[in-house]
Amino acid sequence: MRCLKCGSGACIEIRRHRAAYCEEHFVEHVHKQVTRAVRKFKMFEPGEKLLLAVSGGKDSLALWDVLLDLGYQADGLYIDLGIGDYSARSREKAENFAGARRAALHVVSLPETYGVNVGYIAKKSGKPFCSTCGLVKRYIMNAAASIKGYDAVVTGHNLDDEAGALLGNALSWQVGYLRRQSPNMPASQGLVRKVKPLCRLGERETAAYCIIKGINYILEECPMAKGASSLAYKDVLNALESRAPGTKDRFYLGFLREGRHYFQGGSEEPQLRPCSVCGQPTTAETCSFCRQVQRAGLDPLAVLEAIKNSGA
Ligand code: AMP
Ligand code: ZN
Ligand code: ZN
Repeated sequence: MRCLKCGSGACIEIRRHRAAYCEEHFVEHVHKQVTRAVRKFKMFEPGEKLLLAVSGGKDSLALWDVLLDLGYQADGLYIDLGIGDYSARSREKAENFAGARRAALHVVSLPETYGVNVGYIAKKSGKPFCSTCGLVKRYIMNAAASIKGYDAVVTGHNLDDEAGALLGNALSWQVGYLRRQSPNMPASQGLVRKVKPLCRLGERETAAYCIIKGINYILEECPMAKGASSLAYKDVLNALESRAPGTKDRFYLGFLREGRHYFQGGSEEPQLRPCSVCGQPTTAETCSFCRQVQRAGLDPLAVLEAIKNSGA
């Protein structure tokens, strides 16, 4: 296998593009795919302040590296959910990367704020673990970006994540989710813009990028995600992709191009207003974060204090 660009020995083959690259040109390929996504979906401009949610995994660390290499102003946000050893080690990866690249990292920690972890909040409020974790992360990302004055929240969702989510949404015709599934959710009514610049790259590519660039990331997935249906959707798509390379691209990028507009219009966007407790945008009197945290006997405002003091 030879590099498509320079003809020297290739280190990776990208079957869906009928291409193979040497290390140098693979890095260039990753940079180009991010640049294309950022431009095509009008995600952000040079000079805008970006808050990148970093989990310590391959995707968000690779993305941070790419954005810094491309000259964007991207600070990190790590949310410590207190999931035992897994959180401790992923936090370390995020902190080590920030240190090595001299990048600013905000850390907001549930255990340091409340002395409990996300599992405690889930249990006390009678909600499933993963939906509580998702709610806490979304809440902290938006609150941190709006309190600290960032123009956009950036996440490391990749092509596999987005194609898997699309399959899940399509299988049960979640029309509301299909309408909103976009790599660029514009700012609206107190919600900060949310973008996904890795939507053209698969997880195999972000892992290879980290290895080539010497980025040390946490290998394992969250221990609580085992058996999640999102993983089953990814497995199905991987099986199809290996028989017909390009399936995920055609499915997801094709949806954005050709399919998504069929779901637009119809019902009106929900009206948001400031939560009576914390002031963050919500459709209800009190937002679900405040309700759930209060049900666990904790003070929701403590997290906003933690965000204000989160350094960087
Ligand atoms: P996941 O939902 O774990 O697949 O993660 C999707 C994206 O959410 C990651 O690429 C990160 O951008 C962000 N993310 C996940 N976990 C965290 C965390 N603990 N702190 C900050 N951002 C996170
Ligand atoms: Zn080459
Ligand atoms: Zn609230």
